[in-house]
Amino acid sequence: MLKVLILGGTEEARRLAEAAALRFEVVVSLAGRTRAPQASPGRVRIGGFGGARGLAQFLADERIEAVVDATHPFAARISAHAYDACLNLSLPRLQLMRPPWRPHAGDAWLSVGDAAAAAAVLPRIGRTAFLTVGRQELAAFAEVSGVRFVVRLIEPPPEPLPLPEAEVVIGRPPFTQEAERALIAAHGIDVLVSKNSGGTATIAKLQAARAAKIKMVMIDRPPPEPGPQVETVEQALAWLDGW
Ligand code: NAP
Repeated sequence: MLKVLILGGTEEARRLAEAAALRFEVVVSLAGRTRAPQASPGRVRIGGFGGARGLAQFLADERIEAVVDATHPFAARISAHAYDACLNLSLPRLQLMRPPWRPHAGDAWLSVGDAAAAAAVLPRIGRTAFLTVGRQELAAFAEVSGVRFVVRLIEPPPEPLPLPEAEVVIGRPPFTQEAERALIAAHGIDVLVSKNSGGTATIAKLQAARAAKIKMVMIDRPPPEPGPQVETVEQALAWLDGW
């Protein structure tokens, strides 16, 4: 039976593991960022590998025969490590990456290259920003003045946020459009800041922002690694079936 490593941390990875575990020997790897990760089928290992070399060692030790990189589109380092490690070991590797969100006609949508660029434009375009970029990106907004932040996180932060004026809202996706609209209205939010993650789990914030006619600052994805790439769990399964 083909032994597959799924690099996870996304809903797609969880769904792929569920389907793949019926046909292949599946090992799922999580970075260990959340204290209570969602349960996943297959054998789950948690924590970094120690760079591309550590990952290559793990792949060899475990006799992994194929890798599906189903990490988040913004998790660029682990994807680069997977690319390098698989290239060195001549292992087949696939990137499973959901398509990005696209603006609708009439959206007040501003694309920026990274979190620092989002922080730089904010004072000119909003007073109360809904910051949904994840805990690790918050430091980029530390120097922004004249903007109040409503920060959504999956879990309460282990330490104080690096932002002068911020209110934390805890919530785990998926969210509904009604709840997102209520949150925008309740906090007087006039600009949404988001990574262009794509997918359905967090799309309600875009729909709500669109309906409320507020601005959207969208952080573009880092470029993907070279090599085969698919957008759906079904396509990833078909690729695995080919080995
Ligand atoms: P990253 O910057 O690409 O990775 C940083 C380090 O974390 C990697 O070098 C690796 O450590 C370890 N790592 C990352 N993903 C791993 C995995 N699936 N299994 C084992 N080790 C992993 O990633 P990140 O942006 O911090 O994201 C961490 C995880 O959260 C990813 O798995 C991603 O799918 C998930 N996630 C990220 C985002 C986001 O916006 N970035 C959003 C939702 C979920 P070593 O070098 O020691 O191996």
